[in-house]
Amino acid sequence: MKTSVIGYPRIGDLRELKFALEAYFRKELPLGELEATAKKLRRHNWELQKQAGIDLIPSNDFSFYDNLLDTAYMLGIVPKRYQELGLSPLDTYFSMARGYQGESGDVKALGMKKWFNTNYHYMVPEIDDSCCIALKGRKPFEEFLEARELGIETKPVIIGAYTLLKLARFTGRKRAEDVKGCVAEAYKEILKQFKELGAVWIQLEEPALVQDMSEEDIWLFEELYREILREKDSLKVLLQTYYGDVRDCYQRLAALPFDGIGLDFVEGRRSLDLLEAYGFPEDKLLFAGLVNGKNIWKNNYEKTLTAVDRILKAAKNVVLSSSCSLLHVPCTLRNETRLTQSYKGYLAFAEEKLWELRDLKAVLGSDSPLLHDAYQENTALFRQERCGCKEEVRSRLESLTDKDFTRLPAFEEREKIQKQAFHLPLLPITTIGSFPQTKEVRANRFAFKKGEIGEEQYKEYNRKKIKECIRLQEQTGLDVLVHGEYERNDMVEYFGECLDGFLFTDKAWVQSYGTRCVKPPIVWGDISRSRPMTVEYSVYAQSLTDRPVKGMLTGPVTILNWSFPREDISLKECAFQIGLAIRDEVLELEANGIRMIQIDEAALREKLPLRRQDWHEEYLDWAIPAFRLVHSGVRPETQIHTHMCYSEFGAIIKDIDDMDADVITFEASRSDLTILDDLKACGFRTQVGPGVYDIHSPRIPSVEELLIALEKMLEKLPAEKLWVNPDCGLKTREEKESWISLKHMAEAACLARRSLRE
Ligand code: GLN
Ligand code: ZN
Repeated sequence: MKTSVIGYPRIGDLRELKFALEAYFRKELPLGELEATAKKLRRHNWELQKQAGIDLIPSNDFSFYDNLLDTAYMLGIVPKRYQELGLSPLDTYFSMARGYQGESGDVKALGMKKWFNTNYHYMVPEIDDSCCIALKGRKPFEEFLEARELGIETKPVIIGAYTLLKLARFTGRKRAEDVKGCVAEAYKEILKQFKELGAVWIQLEEPALVQDMSEEDIWLFEELYREILREKDSLKVLLQTYYGDVRDCYQRLAALPFDGIGLDFVEGRRSLDLLEAYGFPEDKLLFAGLVNGKNIWKNNYEKTLTAVDRILKAAKNVVLSSSCSLLHVPCTLRNETRLTQSYKGYLAFAEEKLWELRDLKAVLGSDSPLLHDAYQENTALFRQERCGCKEEVRSRLESLTDKDFTRLPAFEEREKIQKQAFHLPLLPITTIGSFPQTKEVRANRFAFKKGEIGEEQYKEYNRKKIKECIRLQEQTGLDVLVHGEYERNDMVEYFGECLDGFLFTDKAWVQSYGTRCVKPPIVWGDISRSRPMTVEYSVYAQSLTDRPVKGMLTGPVTILNWSFPREDISLKECAFQIGLAIRDEVLELEANGIRMIQIDEAALREKLPLRRQDWHEEYLDWAIPAFRLVHSGVRPETQIHTHMCYSEFGAIIKDIDDMDADVITFEASRSDLTILDDLKACGFRTQVGPGVYDIHSPRIPSVEELLIALEKMLEKLPAEKLWVNPDCGLKTREEKESWISLKHMAEAACLARRSLRE
């Protein structure tokens, strides 16, 4: 059985590409050196895959910023405003990715969005009416030839026409229908040129097929490919899907003249059923995605072999593949020096997944697979009792009943009690939690981490900052204060480090977008809390003022969504474990006199399944209860806040109301305010603080524009329900600009209050 890899991480084992790009952006690295770094990384990746005996090694999976942007750029989908800058080809590309501000002009970047159900973000291609789509770039061919020069024959990979059109934004009158002809022509040309170069396989990636498809969508897909495949001749075309199953179009897809079809058997819950129900065409190769491209755990060979058995009953010709690009996992375990072998033995990052494909190929090819060394070793690992199980956590979970998920009294009654308890003015003014992480704030934390200063000195500095922050918030006229989160850099990392059950890596970075990488903690064992995590600073902050100070926590769903989850227990169970730990913190904050507690669920929206049908059963049915579990134990007069980063939750408003928080703040300043109409339409009862200004930009909003924003909100929401706050935390901003912006915001709120009274 042959092996195939869909794509490999390009950022480099030590984030070499990130650093080279950033130096290039700062004009500290010449283009030649940037290109040399890129070339070295590509070579490293190809050679590694060759060593692992991978039969179908990808090329063109490399990108300086984003593969969808590469695809758009290659097809000439470059809006005028970028062309008009008159920059070099590569700098034009970067201007689309990052915006440009300089001698040649001033343009914003293209929009950026989450790539399907991953933490990776793509640049949104913009197609306007004047756009003339045709093959213009050479990148895939150049990289294919570059590999060939190294003696490695690769399978070029390109995002397919359907996914491109589904993700693009049409800014003029034209729609996908109107451009599909040129797009198909361009892809035909790509196929033709690869055929001339003597490529054997080409991989066209169509992850958009795993989303809900309408009949029109299927038509569009079919029409595109009938045309694209028309003259492919001897070139073999692999239609690669991932992140789910193709239940809406399986049979129609199978009927098209592809040479190979790649299905995901990890996330595609119905992939096997589809095969078994409808069979698989005998003249095609099935690329079976069985090595998880998203998680960092070793593959369970026993399970994989069982799946292969079933797959082979339906399909004759099978290639073993990763389930998606390995872009979503860190590069290699080799640089993890802190983790002991007892942990590393369970892990497989991108490089180790290559060895798994090699092992599985050997096992499957041997006469008695079950006796193969690699198989035996692997099954022994999975039979072994894994440390990290905590009886007390398990039994606590088992004894949960409905009562633990239900806060009493009901919302309306609490709202009354809290109005009396807090006596807040109309349109209460607050912030989301963090205040600027200045150089000194970071330096203090690093010095403590490195052992250069002692704990007392470290805390003393934080207390000084908290005191300053409280004073300034009072002077600025805020009603509900925060301590400022000076002790945290990344919130998930912070709570992960405070809780028991997480593992931390040194170099396990994953690309989030462009040059930005994240280092998610790993959920290793049962999660528990052995000590208070935030009580000390919150209590200190509250002792400095008569106004309420919000306790500041991160919710279980967000902690889980921004970590690598376990696979030996369900996500639900894991979320509930984290929920119980945070619940203990909530109750301890309350017991120590904290009367308002914010539990951020910044990432709640992120892991919503791709198919609407799965939203509740697979996700919301446990995610919302996990949040309720955290706060159901507080007294009626304790006010629970939550915060979400995306306002794109139109379709799940009811579920968000069901979180049963008392107040929710969310990002709204960059979106149109239709969300407020939605809130009104569904009778949203939670009090809301739609962000009145954008904290992602250093711009200081004027009092007038903030007042206008508030007035617009007041047209849609009753004044009794409305809070006034920025979009999100201020940690990435400068101190000076933040205080001026907040001052303006408070002034605008006072003006709005005055006109309400009149
Ligand atoms: N309380 C957090 C902060 O202010 C929330 C961060 C977030 O939403 N990403 O930084
Ligand atoms: Zn936020």
